[in-house]
Amino acid sequence: MRLHVPLLSNIFGVLASYFLLMWCHAYLGESTFSTLWMILGMLYTNVFEYGYHRVLLHMRVPCLSFLGYMRLDHLEHHYAFSKKSTSRDPKDFENILTPWYVFALLLFFHYSVALFVMPHASIISFFTGVTFQFLVLYQVNHWFTHVTDSWYDRIFEKLPFIGKRRTGQKEHHWDHHKRPDGKYSFSPPLQWFGF
Ligand SMILES: [Zn+2]
Ligand SMILES: [Zn+2]
Repeated sequence: MRLHVPLLSNIFGVLASYFLLMWCHAYLGESTFSTLWMILGMLYTNVFEYGYHRVLLHMRVPCLSFLGYMRLDHLEHHYAFSKKSTSRDPKDFENILTPWYVFALLLFFHYSVALFVMPHASIISFFTGVTFQFLVLYQVNHWFTHVTDSWYDRIFEKLPFIGKRRTGQKEHHWDHHKRPDGKYSFSPPLQWFGF
């Protein structure tokens, strides 16, 4: 259990940021739940994750050099899992998570833009999709992709349909670790199409 403490505190930070912002937004007026806007939020986050990983974490971008420490942290993550795909050594998990405050800053930035370009009633649905895609489909899944013999995968890999997808996701990501010049997307649906 001690191995997973960084993940649990990260989940707490991400959920606290999301609930705080959505609670503030609720004062702006009525919100209606929309599956469409939630799916749009998930798809947007999937594309953003691909670009963030491919450009910010794998390329030297002169105008973003002040964020170079993120690329170095990501290289450490690649180095930790260059010769093995999984581990239970806490040291190997020091550079695996996107810090919760990065999520909070990006959430606040995107929310500020959304206020001008999106119907206010759909904002909570959109950012619920964003948070689910980021936290569950990316952050938690990525963490357990690198945990040796995890309870998480013992459960998910037994489920019909999901189990096969989960095994495919892990192999896709381990390929990215072996050859870090492709397969940048971790989460579905882009990962299903080999991106
Ligand atoms: Zn990884
Ligand atoms: Zn990478």
